[in-house]
Amino acid sequence: MQRSITISQIKQAAREAYDESKGVTGGANANYIPYLANIDPELFGLSVTLTDGTSFNFGDTDYRFGIESVSKVPTAILAMIQHTPDGVLRQIGADATGLPFNSIFAILLENDHPSTPLVNAGAISACSMIAPQGASREKWEAITGNITDLCGSAPELIDELYESETATNFNNRAISWLLKNYNRIYDDVDMSLDLYTRQCSLGITSSQLAVMGSTIANHGLNPVTGKQVFDAEISPKITTMIASVGFYQHTGDWLFTSGIPAKTGVGGGVMGVMPGLFGIAAFAPPLDDAGNSVKAQAVIKKFMNKLGLNFLSGDNVTITAD
Ligand code: GLU
Repeated sequence: MQRSITISQIKQAAREAYDESKGVTGGANANYIPYLANIDPELFGLSVTLTDGTSFNFGDTDYRFGIESVSKVPTAILAMIQHTPDGVLRQIGADATGLPFNSIFAILLENDHPSTPLVNAGAISACSMIAPQGASREKWEAITGNITDLCGSAPELIDELYESETATNFNNRAISWLLKNYNRIYDDVDMSLDLYTRQCSLGITSSQLAVMGSTIANHGLNPVTGKQVFDAEISPKITTMIASVGFYQHTGDWLFTSGIPAKTGVGGGVMGVMPGLFGIAAFAPPLDDAGNSVKAQAVIKKFMNKLGLNFLSGDNVTITAD
């Protein structure tokens, strides 16, 4: 079906979804990372960036929260820029695990494979792939530079979060060494884990994440800065990964009810990608039992349902000026 939606309709849907989701309760801040346990649970923001660069922001959209697992998306993109999508498929994989983000069992089930760069194992493996080999500082600059290009502005490390994660990341240490045992870590193990921990500790705003989502939706061209950040062929590859594992063991339920591929993080952020149309990001700290923000899920679902959008509908949707 051919459909057209106006920019005002999108803004209106975002405003209504935001207002109606303010009262959504339930969930709890992540408690296994001390810094996250202490964030104000009332914070709530919603941002939408269209592929023409128009943005709408409601609520706490300038608050810098821990990007956490949403950082797995830009680093997977960087690994694909540097090693091609096939290289990442070969060295990491692109399979949904159907298991929690930090699952060790998933590594064993996948026959020694980290599965996908969007779970902890594959994300640590992706950090190990980033060039240049053996150079922590340059690798870090490549990772943060890529995030800056995708968002059109720089993220900032939250030192306290980084210290908090480093002091408590015992499970991720176990994952890293298990991967090393299976030859799935392609650089120094401790350096790769540290890069992963640091990228999770970057502070980001929902308005920045909406631009990142829009850059992915816009075939790698950042609609705000006009910079071509990655080749268009990478866009459907990363969106496939987001669609298949973005909500970990609840990915199927999420896609079924929301109609948009999205990636979550235990900092309370969710970033969605609507191919060709827009990026969307919501932030609210309380999480469900799988580590996904309760309010962020609610607001994005409401927004999608109000507009009657689903990335698999087959509709040819265009956004028009009013
Ligand atoms: N830094 C977190 C961890 O590795 C990220 C998890 C997430 O956001 O899902 O446990």
